[in-house]
Amino acid sequence: MKFVSTRGKAPAVSASQAIMQGLAPDGGLYVPESFPSLGNLAIHEISSYPELAFEVLAPFFEDDLLKEDLAEICMDAFNFPVPLVTLKDQDAVLELFHGPTAAFKDFGARFLAACMERMLAKEQRKLTILVATSGDTGGAVAAAFANRKGIEVKVLYPKGRVSARQQQQLTCWGANIQAYEVDGSFDDCQKMVKDAFMDQTVSRQWGLSSANSINLGRLLPQSVYYVFASHLYTQAFGKRPIFIIPSGNVGNSCAAFWALTMGSPIERIVLSVNENKTIPEFLTSGIYQTRPSVQTLANAMDVGAPSNMERLFNLYPDVDTLKSMLTAYSVDDRTIQATIKEVYGELGYILCPHTATAERVRRDHFAGQPTIVVSTAHPAKFEQVVEPLIGTAVEVPQNLATLLDKPSSFKAIGTDYKDLFN
Ligand SMILES: *Cc1c(COP(=O)(O)O)cnc(C)c1O
Repeated sequence: MKFVSTRGKAPAVSASQAIMQGLAPDGGLYVPESFPSLGNLAIHEISSYPELAFEVLAPFFEDDLLKEDLAEICMDAFNFPVPLVTLKDQDAVLELFHGPTAAFKDFGARFLAACMERMLAKEQRKLTILVATSGDTGGAVAAAFANRKGIEVKVLYPKGRVSARQQQQLTCWGANIQAYEVDGSFDDCQKMVKDAFMDQTVSRQWGLSSANSINLGRLLPQSVYYVFASHLYTQAFGKRPIFIIPSGNVGNSCAAFWALTMGSPIERIVLSVNENKTIPEFLTSGIYQTRPSVQTLANAMDVGAPSNMERLFNLYPDVDTLKSMLTAYSVDDRTIQATIKEVYGELGYILCPHTATAERVRRDHFAGQPTIVVSTAHPAKFEQVVEPLIGTAVEVPQNLATLLDKPSSFKAIGTDYKDLFN
């Protein structure tokens, strides 16, 4: 299996090459040249999630250097439960928050880290990953790469702009993970990362790389849980589910479209967004217009220029086809708050602000239909939003509690990227 660039001006590469490169040399994103069919996948004979992941991903790693390691990579990366919970009737929730940092980004980050560590061992080299974070991504990347051989991680976050719990998840790792508290904004952090990459001397000397959400190694493993949940749901309810996915950069929803393309029993894919409405506006007007992001309570989805749209345009090159496949609704902050309250009062189930957008879309547009709301984070990560609404403390899950108890350390620096390399 080969992977090609969405911009069509880069050579086709293997999976591990795409993973080690991140971005294609023509500035495009890597996508599979074709999709395998899951038609003859005997799901009922598969006994564990890592085993299913191996079966789903194996065709993508045929003829790849990592082929022989893939089973072990899946065991290493997906070492936590993936429950599909029924809320009531045909309303299900796919809980993707049982990994080490209690958000779905653990799936992609852990798979990417497991792949990279093995590739570096084969190539006998080392690299340094730079990641600028406004909160969640940095934590998942730090956790996934902690204690991996041959890899150093430098995480940059803006001073005073991340929550106390988020900061703890960035600064508690020690060993090969170094956190930098930057006296500046998130944009400053991003600029420092860019400047470092542009500095050829630094970039070569340190073997700089990124663990961006556009990396193929983060996207591919996310398809697996859509294959998994759609089969489980269809077996339980005798109907194909509609997935409702809280979306920002649309990596998670792109992975759902890939699972659909491979033949998973999925009725429809629906995106819920916050007040960053680039996608719903595109579906209404037919014109794709990115815009600056606005801040909302569902802050991991504050994206005005969704980076993975390029992959969706590639999957459905005809705009009318894309519009017919895609559905998206926007949910504002007040409605997010009302939904968290409503669902807790009715069912005793606590939603994070991101997942609340999807639950709102279900209630307003798909009531009584077979649906799976994709839960992207544990509510305890957003306790400052959630607890005042439900009037009680959110119990912190064990995985998160473990991180919160660790000692933390960081280096405070200004906005000069050279300070990252002293
Ligand atoms: C990153 C994130 C999202 C958005 O996912 P995309 O793949 O960028 O669309 C949604 N919810 C949470 C909690 C996240 O961390």
